[in-house]
Amino acid sequence: MTSVKAYAAQSAESPLAPLSIDRRDPGPHDVVIDIAYCGVCHSDVHAVRNEWGRTRYPIVPGHEITGYVVAVGNEVKRWKPGDTVGVGCMVNSCRECSACHEHQEQYCERGMTATYNSIDKRGDRTVTKGGYSTRIVVNEDFVLRIPQGMPLDRTAPLLCAGITTYSPLHRHGVTTGAKVGIVGLGGLGHVAVKIAKALGAHVTMISHSERKKADAEHLGADDFLLTRDPEVFKSHAKRFDFILDTISANHDYNAYLNLLRLDGTMVVVGLPEPAPVSADTLIQGRRSLAGSLIGGIKETQEMLDFCAKHGVLADIELIPASKINEAYDRMVKSDVRYRFVIDIQSLG
Ligand code: NAP
Ligand code: ZN
Ligand code: ZN
Repeated sequence: MTSVKAYAAQSAESPLAPLSIDRRDPGPHDVVIDIAYCGVCHSDVHAVRNEWGRTRYPIVPGHEITGYVVAVGNEVKRWKPGDTVGVGCMVNSCRECSACHEHQEQYCERGMTATYNSIDKRGDRTVTKGGYSTRIVVNEDFVLRIPQGMPLDRTAPLLCAGITTYSPLHRHGVTTGAKVGIVGLGGLGHVAVKIAKALGAHVTMISHSERKKADAEHLGADDFLLTRDPEVFKSHAKRFDFILDTISANHDYNAYLNLLRLDGTMVVVGLPEPAPVSADTLIQGRRSLAGSLIGGIKETQEMLDFCAKHGVLADIELIPASKINEAYDRMVKSDVRYRFVIDIQSLG
């Protein structure tokens, strides 16, 4: 066991603060990673503040991890000290169910082991602790290779925001000329705009923040709809083939569904509290509403390679760990440009 420095919350009401945590000694199939950067996902905020009601304290969040391999277990062949690697939202799964066999470990029928706040059922049965820490020990099959030349700070957010948006855009066949709406210009949304553009789509940013219009253009969006003006839901009805909804707060899904054309699909990835969907909204226009959870490990590697090829990186605000509570407050106010990333060196 090695003691490492981390940032943790002790309850839903308490701020994140320094804490020493233990990392296991590497087993034969483990990879020991010194963390360089960790992105800050809105899911971290939901979890720390117990907005999903299943948080185990103390919680060490963080599932957008990049860093360097420093040691490997004696059976590990694929990784060696010095490799630049990433870890996303999962650190294990059963490997035996049909979802695991189909490389969709995030839907493991026995439950994937999340990078934090999950009981490590196939490991030491402790509660997993995430990337707001200096070191992590991960099974070799859940480690991602960072393509050469990608900067580790701007790549870190791709490990969650990248795969969560790439997977549905790719799976639903978004391609050249598709009329795509991305709802919510935050961490997920800004990466989604870049990926959808790289896939050749005509991309409209749909936002409730007027101040983000110029940024949306700068990120590559072809158009911008400001939802504070209710008229846009009328004047742009039936316009989009595909909508990706990344909103982190409660909102009316039906309003956005009405923006879909005949046979259009809206995929929800944002995870606020449940809200009603009207059957009539789906029936009128044979629309589909779907969800999507991150992506499998194979697909995550594919996404990293795609982003390397197309020059897709996150736009980040690098912060020391001591600024994390301020960063959470800003994220809740939609004041993020466009992903906070913790410089893990600041943990000392
Ligand atoms: P984020 O950076 O905070 O961005 C969320 C964006 O939602 C905001 O920037 C804002 O964009 C919009 N928004 C916030 N409050 C709103 C409101 N009241 N009305 C309308 N729009 C609002 O969050 P994120 O890290 O991208 O995460 C987004 C959501 O995805 C979270 O719920 C997170 O838990 C979830 N998530 C899901 C998965 C998955 O696998 N399905 C993976 C990762 C994250 P504008 O200012 O442009 O309107
Ligand atoms: Zn995330
Ligand atoms: Zn499984």
